[in-house]
Amino acid sequence: MKIIAGNWKMNGSVGALGEMTGRLAAVKTKNKVILCVPYTMLGVKSNKVVNIGAQDISVHNRGAYTGEVSGAMLAEMGVKYVLVGHSERRMYHDETNDIVRAKAERALENGITPIICVGETLDEKRAGKTLKIIETEVRESVPEEVRGNIIVAYEPRWAIGAGLTPTAQEIADAHKSIADTLSYMGLDGTPILYGASVNENNVGDIVSIKNVSGVLVGVASLKSDEFIPIIKNAK
Ligand code: PEP
Repeated sequence: MKIIAGNWKMNGSVGALGEMTGRLAAVKTKNKVILCVPYTMLGVKSNKVVNIGAQDISVHNRGAYTGEVSGAMLAEMGVKYVLVGHSERRMYHDETNDIVRAKAERALENGITPIICVGETLDEKRAGKTLKIIETEVRESVPEEVRGNIIVAYEPRWAIGAGLTPTAQEIADAHKSIADTLSYMGLDGTPILYGASVNENNVGDIVSIKNVSGVLVGVASLKSDEFIPIIKNAK
């Protein structure tokens, strides 16, 4: 069983998601499928194939935080998964590891599985710092006490939406480093997804790499004729 998570970012509509979930309902797969969508689409129901998840969660529980959505509110909508620390949140909203960890904590407190994203920039990669950066991000972004489930996603920032992917060896090294760090933190067995420019042609090779538990898919999760082959080829 692999985990196939999609990230619609700020795309789509309630109608488009309804069509997607309808098509996914007919897919025969043993994989766990998650689609993380904008808040406005969270009323669209999950079904036996796909779990509808969110893309962000507030660090606050309630109160005067205009525009924020709390973990309890997500749980009330039936949300079971939420992305935290996606590189676009880190980049455009200055989310630090401390903020990402607080968000993951709020998710866990509300029975929601956080998908905690980590990954190096191009400059960090060029400077040979990839493993150091992702180790630090995992140590600082994953809550110290995990009551419930977490998922970690390795997304090299330079490869997201760029049609680029690291080599199989680079993915293997990154995932081993994350698995070792999680093991040191007492979190053996935490699923680790690979994300960035995954498509129906490369997904089979990627999920066969050691310590890769599944994939996080951006642009290719928006169309059912691209997302469904990814789900089918991930084995
Ligand atoms: C992402 O942004 O999480 C992502 C994986 O994007 P893409 O698949 O489009 O590279």
